[in-house]
Amino acid sequence: MASPIVSKKMREEATCAICLLLMAEPVSISCGHSYCRQCITGFLENIRQEIPSQTLFYCPHCRAPFQVTSLRPNKQLGSLIEVIKEMSQDMSCEEHGEFLHIFCEDEGQLICWRCERSPQHQGHNTAVIEDVCQGYQEMLQNAVTNLRELEEECTKLKLFTRKQISEWNEKTESQKQKIQSDFKNLQRFLHEEEKSYLWKLEKEKEQTLQRLIGNEATLEQKSQELRRHILELEERCQSSAQKLLQ
Ligand SMILES: [Zn+2]
Ligand SMILES: [Zn+2]
Ligand SMILES: [Zn+2]
Ligand SMILES: [Zn+2]
Repeated sequence: MASPIVSKKMREEATCAICLLLMAEPVSISCGHSYCRQCITGFLENIRQEIPSQTLFYCPHCRAPFQVTSLRPNKQLGSLIEVIKEMSQDMSCEEHGEFLHIFCEDEGQLICWRCERSPQHQGHNTAVIEDVCQGYQEMLQNAVTNLRELEEECTKLKLFTRKQISEWNEKTESQKQKIQSDFKNLQRFLHEEEKSYLWKLEKEKEQTLQRLIGNEATLEQKSQELRRHILELEERCQSSAQKLLQ
């Protein structure tokens, strides 16, 4: 939707307080107020017709006294009014040439007061554009407020999540250290156990071997004795009968 390019305030400033139209050839007087050249001279002539001797006049707007000699063309205001007119042309109805200051809500378009009364827009919901703009501005303002609230919520959640992340980092770090130290202890324990089992095994082996070597020596000794005895008996066998029976 187009916003009213020429604001109401600007139009008011460029409107002649005598004819209530955009000023034509604006002239200003000593108080600073401006009027159409034709309007202010007409105003002066009216007074002179009644009181021909009058030389001091009063501003129709603020009642400040002024003299005819203080009238000055206000070229700056004149140019400004030209601009306003140009801009207003874009804002006038192509069909009726009137200012498009009404918004037809049914058709979503800008129309003039004559369009509003035409059969084409009969029974349609219409509103003055300033009101519509205000409505839109309020709507946008509300949307901005809502979005701002959402954004705040989002920021809060973001901070909360960041806190959770750092908490989890700390938590897992301490758990990691605990696991590592537990396993280090376990490894130390297992290593000690291994050493102890190996030591016991070594001890047992030593004792058993000692015993077996001792047995072996004893058996060797016994074997030698037996062999000697056998030899003795064999010799006796082969000797004479007399000797055998000795
Ligand atoms: Zn005027
Ligand atoms: Zn004035
Ligand atoms: Zn129209
Ligand atoms: Zn309509």
